[in-house]
Amino acid sequence: MSEVVIAHLFPHRMNIYGDTGNVITLSKRLEWRGIPHRVDLVPVGSDYDLLGADVVVAGGGEDISQIEVAHDLVERADNVRLAVEAGVAFLVVCGSYQLFGRRFVASDGSELAGIGVFDAETVGGKGRLIGNVIVESDFGRLVGFENHGGRTILGSGQAALGRVTKGSGNNGSGSDEGAVTHHCFGTYLHGSVLPKNPGFADELLRLGMERRHSMVSLGELDDAIEVTAARSAATRP
Ligand code: GLN
Repeated sequence: MSEVVIAHLFPHRMNIYGDTGNVITLSKRLEWRGIPHRVDLVPVGSDYDLLGADVVVAGGGEDISQIEVAHDLVERADNVRLAVEAGVAFLVVCGSYQLFGRRFVASDGSELAGIGVFDAETVGGKGRLIGNVIVESDFGRLVGFENHGGRTILGSGQAALGRVTKGSGNNGSGSDEGAVTHHCFGTYLHGSVLPKNPGFADELLRLGMERRHSMVSLGELDDAIEVTAARSAATRP
């Protein structure tokens, strides 16, 4: 079979709180099943075609890193939208999630244009929303760690990733967390999120691979360690 391709968007700029672990998790879960794959790094300024990927991952970053990547993201917005519509799976975390919305206004009032994959707007608020989070989602319970100043408000028709039962989620006022458009998942969950949520990791692989690798099935793995890590994180403040 042809290789499964994981694209890591802005690996040098958007990778805080262990977000690169999401790429490692996807790669390892393919390796453990003997499925050929590769990871493509997509730095700022590259002319990489995201339609050539099965899963695209982008992490969080400080406001300063967001400024560095925002222009590049707007430049490749058409390509991102085509890939989302084609069914490529995306996981975009925190700072990247904010830029996949329509706009991000930092706490100092400066504004960055987003690419509007999500009908969402983020505005920097007073104080940061920090702590472990539990989210009830279509993929079961997700656990992760949030640390963001931005408050994200979803448009009325925009689907969320899930509902927080612990933590702040999108804005600390409502209970929604993250956003979903086609197979594109935005979330505030760091940690990194995928090592502790193997079912969600496999769902991303399955959704992303069905466009070009429909004959491949993802067999069971022993997730005892991952499940223990998730349980432990869920009990922490
Ligand atoms: N700078 C953004 C905020 O604080 C994103 C932070 C992050 O990616 N963790 O809202």
